[in-house]
Amino acid sequence: MYLAGQVPPESPPSDRSRAPGGSRAPGVHSGSSRALLSAVATLAALSLAVAIVGHGHSLDTDAARAASPPPAAARSADGALLYRVVGCRSTGALAHREGPRRMEVAIGFDDGPWTDTPAFVTMLQRNHAIATFFMIGRQLSAAQRPLLLRELRAGDLLGDHTYSHPDLTRIGPAAVRAQLHQAIDAIRADSGYTPCLFRPPYGADDASVSRIARSLGLSTVLWNVDPADYTQPGTGAIEQRVLAQVRPGSIIISHDGGGPRGQTLAAYPGIIRKLRARGYRIVTMLEMFGYRPVYEPCIKLCDGLGLARLQLPRGAIIAPAP
Ligand SMILES: [Zn+2]
Repeated sequence: MYLAGQVPPESPPSDRSRAPGGSRAPGVHSGSSRALLSAVATLAALSLAVAIVGHGHSLDTDAARAASPPPAAARSADGALLYRVVGCRSTGALAHREGPRRMEVAIGFDDGPWTDTPAFVTMLQRNHAIATFFMIGRQLSAAQRPLLLRELRAGDLLGDHTYSHPDLTRIGPAAVRAQLHQAIDAIRADSGYTPCLFRPPYGADDASVSRIARSLGLSTVLWNVDPADYTQPGTGAIEQRVLAQVRPGSIIISHDGGGPRGQTLAAYPGIIRKLRARGYRIVTMLEMFGYRPVYEPCIKLCDGLGLARLQLPRGAIIAPAP
């Protein structure tokens, strides 16, 4: 059976509440001389390397890279090195229908980018929640670049939902690979972010599809809560269906694209509030599965995504400069 509901949690990037972009690492840069700054940066690098090793991963190369500040990195106005998120790394089970049985819920919105997608990002920000947007590659163009960067700044994740939304179990391995790869390329071209999560259209998945996805660095994420919001059953029905089906470790599917999504948009503030009232945390799929975000030293403007090293989430992988 290729599908596994659970993987052992490993160093979840826990601090999703930090606001990315703009805020400064404390204590690194007030009135420092260049030499002091360099010493502090090296210390910070070393402590992060120790933190990464301390998580028990065999990522000596990442830790070693983290220990030497990259020469081409951009610096903020006060001199701190900056890093931007460039993707994530998934490991373990090929596919998931739910997460570990903790009081956590992850939300995925499919079939965007779409007209309503910016309103979904705003809604999530207002409710201090984060989600994964599983997007269709052929709907991406340079025009969506600001939207994708905004999603990343908000802490949301970008996922692969194929290039043109076929049933992958009917098109053969070569076409499956092309569908997934073209969507990765489209997302990366628009945002500089390489996804590690994939959701098959219609939930049509088998062992071959999941294995191809994994070979491209993608973990397959299905769901166990489906309000069928695409049928537009009404805002109240969407909320009631989610709340009736949810349980610890649930993954919810809803849609920001593919048609009018006003009902879904209107339902989620209530869904989020009531989930929290029941004691659930809204987490990203990275946090749910213990997957790790990948950061790189960023050049020039960092697309507004630049963070000082001390602002990076715990467990972040530091990749070398491109
Ligand atoms: Zn879809």
